[in-house]
Amino acid sequence: MVNIKWEELGFDYIKTPFRYISHWKNGQWENGVLTEDNTITINEGSTCLHYGQECFEGLKAYRREDGQINLFRPDENAKRLNKSAARMQMPEVPTEMFIDAVKQVVKANEEYVPPFGTGATLYLRPYLIGVGPNIGIVPAPEYIFSVFCMPVGPYFKGGLTPSNFVVSEYDRAAPYGTGAAKVGGNYAASLLPGQIAHDRSFSDCIYLDPATHTKIEEVGSANFFGITHDNQFITPKSPSILPSITKYSLLYLAQERFGLEALEGDVRLDELDKFAEAGACGTAAIIAPIAGIQNGEDFHVFYSETETGPVTKKLYDELVGIQFGTVEAPEGWVFEV
Ligand SMILES: *Cc1c(COP(=O)(O)O)cnc(C)c1O
Repeated sequence: MVNIKWEELGFDYIKTPFRYISHWKNGQWENGVLTEDNTITINEGSTCLHYGQECFEGLKAYRREDGQINLFRPDENAKRLNKSAARMQMPEVPTEMFIDAVKQVVKANEEYVPPFGTGATLYLRPYLIGVGPNIGIVPAPEYIFSVFCMPVGPYFKGGLTPSNFVVSEYDRAAPYGTGAAKVGGNYAASLLPGQIAHDRSFSDCIYLDPATHTKIEEVGSANFFGITHDNQFITPKSPSILPSITKYSLLYLAQERFGLEALEGDVRLDELDKFAEAGACGTAAIIAPIAGIQNGEDFHVFYSETETGPVTKKLYDELVGIQFGTVEAPEGWVFEV
């Protein structure tokens, strides 16, 4: 076994032995291979470097109690990568090729899939970039699709301990821009607001709807959800939000397994009182309970500054149980490696 203190892992880069790489040239994907080289050499004119022609995904592999390994809805990641690719004028990565690449990388780095019970997982990062000789503002002549991985612990320090977030004055995306695509440009735009939030000791910033700045859209790189006093599960609806697979999974579980009324709708900043609990959700964040939100001079506390609300906890246990195979999954959600 590799020498890693699984319980102490954060969300940091670790070089694992193998990654998958495939090149797209002359209108088709070549056969992908596993390589030990964790660097890539590309033309200086590559569109991914200058014009942000790239997109990526994030998913995890989960070690079950019986030692087998689960993937959680990787077909949804494949679909979303292709939606992002279409928005960025990049070629499609067939779903089968995507899932095969992910499985190959998990198998090749099996020793790095954390043991069951440590809470850690193997994070997979598929990405698609435009490469090749170019200077004009046009799609690249060639592309690279690659998947690498590393073991990770909690994304927000503290895991299921509630933390505070701050409303940002900045936007991560425009109303009909690229907010719904998982692309680097949105993240480049989020580095400064993220730094400002961290400097003020907040976990991350909250982005408002870019048109009116009256409604909550995203929580850093995760989606927002709230539980109302009358048991509605609400997440924001907007064309500039990244459609989180975790969010859609929680909408389903809230409704089908816990009898909440689950819906996508407006989350107005001036109506936060209607929520008993709130959280951020995403593959990396899992479910991170929100203690409070700072908005200018106002500080709004949800359930508690120290404890996780009961509905948030129930949803967390159900989701994580499904991912690690201790709770029965809805049909088609879990893929064995
Ligand atoms: C990836 C991402 C999420 C979370 O999506 P999941 O599919 O749940 O991992 C949320 N917001 C942004 C901006 C993202 O890039």
